Amino acid sequence: MSEQERNNDIHWLTGQFNNTNNETNYRNSIKKRVRFETRVALIVVAMLFAVFGITDYNLLGLTREYYLLLAMRITVVSSCLVLAYVIGRCGGYTRKAWLHALPLWIVAIGIVLIVPLRPESLSTQVTAVVVAIMAFYLLIPNLLTVSFWASLFLSVAFVSAAVVFAGISPAMSLRIGLLLIVANVVGYSALLRIEFLQRKQYALLNEEREQNKELQVEIAHRKSLEEQLRMVAEKDALTGVDSRAHFMKRAEALLRRSQFDKSDFCLFMIDVDHFKRVNDTWGHTCGDQILTRIVEVCQQTLRPLDIIGRFGGEEFVVGLPNTSVSDAKTVAERLRDNVTRLRLEGGMSELQLSVTIGIAIAEPDDDLDALIARADNRLYIGKREGRNRVVI
Ligand code: GH3
Ligand code: MG
Ligand code: MG
Repeated sequence: MSEQERNNDIHWLTGQFNNTNNETNYRNSIKKRVRFETRVALIVVAMLFAVFGITDYNLLGLTREYYLLLAMRITVVSSCLVLAYVIGRCGGYTRKAWLHALPLWIVAIGIVLIVPLRPESLSTQVTAVVVAIMAFYLLIPNLLTVSFWASLFLSVAFVSAAVVFAGISPAMSLRIGLLLIVANVVGYSALLRIEFLQRKQYALLNEEREQNKELQVEIAHRKSLEEQLRMVAEKDALTGVDSRAHFMKRAEALLRRSQFDKSDFCLFMIDVDHFKRVNDTWGHTCGDQILTRIVEVCQQTLRPLDIIGRFGGEEFVVGLPNTSVSDAKTVAERLRDNVTRLRLEGGMSELQLSVTIGIAIAEPDDDLDALIARADNRLYIGKREGRNRVVI
């Protein structure tokens, strides 16, 4: 049995969770409903109790017993109304189960007190007691234990009062006793079932909430994994520019858009000059730093609209939408110039960096591969002609 299942165990006799924490949480969760329902039920009970004052008058007239009964009814009714108000404001079984027990005991005492004052109407009083027991279990919201003790008290006290004050025979008291036992068993079983079902429902709801929470965490985790995967697929880990595949996708879209709009689209193929030498002299870590710095120069020189990708090793590719031939040449020259002016820290301060750039301009029916091939050719021409130059 799992921890959760053990926590959700319900006691077979009281209909309450065995786990105290769980029981407290459950009682807290129903507090609002209990306050409202108790208030309504107590008002109804008070009204019924008051209405039966009419039968007192019919049976007794304006006698001493009638006034005593009237005083008793007024006490019970006003107590019920006061308790309805108090419970409606601050009731709840969590810490104040006694407050909910109070009206039951007051009503029970009231009913029992009728016996010595109206002993001749015992048969109607038996019916009233049965109805009261049912109301204790089913009408006035209460814990099963509270309803049970109040009903038991009412039953025992009523039979005892009937024996003492109405002088009923042992056989008769046995009959009434059996009737009240049956009423208690029926009421108890019904409330036990209700308590059980409500707690089961609460446990299921909680389980569902827990699972939902876990699901939300799992979804968030997956989203972050997806994002990480996307980053890995789309971005170059060292420089943060687009990966080759992602660049191709974006450049393809920009090229098609420019052909549709009949606007200019240029492509730069950039290669760092003598980079192998840099690596051999300063080490790969310094080489990596230099690549990052060159990318920074590219980002500062180009427009936010231009796209930069790492084509491989120390080669970068740039897509420039809406850029004419002369503008492309100006930008490429500026970029080349900015790289030569790049000053590095520490031991590499003497290092003179440069790049060679091949530029291709998109023709109306060009595809991206042809455009790249042309830029690449020009890059190699630039390399052959001595590097640190722009070829168009
Ligand atoms: P050229 O001027 O003709 O381009 O000469 P080069 O030395 O730059 O060209 P080559 O293709 O001979 O060497 C490129 C070097 O770039 C070789 C490789 O070790 C280095 N390289 C490629 N990727 C990385 C990288 O991610 N980090 C570092 N540090 N070096 C890299
Ligand atoms: Mg190179
Ligand atoms: Mg190269």
